[in-house]
Amino acid sequence: MAGHEPKAGHEPMARREPAEPERTAPAAPDLSALDRRVSECRACPRLVLWREEVARTRRAAYADWEYWGRPVPGFGPADAAMLIIGLAPAAHGGNRTGRMFTGDRSGDVLFRALYDVGLATRPVATHGGDGMRLRAVRMTAPVHCAPPDNRPTPAERDTCRPWLVRELRLLRPTVRAVVVLGGFGWQATWPALAAAGWPTPRPRPAFAHGTHLALPPPGGPAAGGGARELHLFGCYHVSQRNTATGRLTPAMLRDVLARAADAAGLGGGSSVGPHAAG
Ligand code: SF4
Repeated sequence: MAGHEPKAGHEPMARREPAEPERTAPAAPDLSALDRRVSECRACPRLVLWREEVARTRRAAYADWEYWGRPVPGFGPADAAMLIIGLAPAAHGGNRTGRMFTGDRSGDVLFRALYDVGLATRPVATHGGDGMRLRAVRMTAPVHCAPPDNRPTPAERDTCRPWLVRELRLLRPTVRAVVVLGGFGWQATWPALAAAGWPTPRPRPAFAHGTHLALPPPGGPAAGGGARELHLFGCYHVSQRNTATGRLTPAMLRDVLARAADAAGLGGGSSVGPHAAG
């Protein structure tokens, strides 16, 4: 019909097809469904190519490994009181083992510190079947696929965001503290928290190691139903660059994790107690 034809100069804009996470993340009914959907995502062409190429070519030391080569979902209990947000899986770590921070140097430092403060059952994580369990802690990333040079693009970060938003929403009933590792994660966490319902400050607080702030519960300070604040902590990333140079020492990491555990109600008389820090 003539009346429905676009006028000159008013061409209808091509409708943007929502990316896979945007379409499917909001409907994930629980964290295990979310983890499953994350692990099947192929929304970022560059990252799909890279993660699969790394899985094919492998590092010589892991020539016998069947690499995971897919997105790495979050790891830890669905009723976690504390969430650790990193950057993205490592090419020969999470992208090889299929579990966050498992099988790389960054993870060695992080799991050791979690064990030392009583939040992990083992000091070392080597593979998915190693028996590692986190106590009331979950770990995740704003980008779930290993990126070249550990550098996701802003577009890849934004495409992946709905997974993090849904994870935060599903954790809302229990999560009381979030530890963000590094500036990339810090920047990525704010819009995800806002989209998941938390009131967030403007301007966004700058990233710094040791930063701690408390966000009012979703619904604001007046929210009833026992709603509690969310404590947000900044911590240098456990990257090799930071740990090898002493920018982030084991003691600094343990300190942030222990403060976050206290804020999450996991310290003191809880079942979580410190192991001897070696
Ligand atoms: S980075 Fe995230 S959005 Fe992109 S392909 Fe991986 S899981 Fe999907």
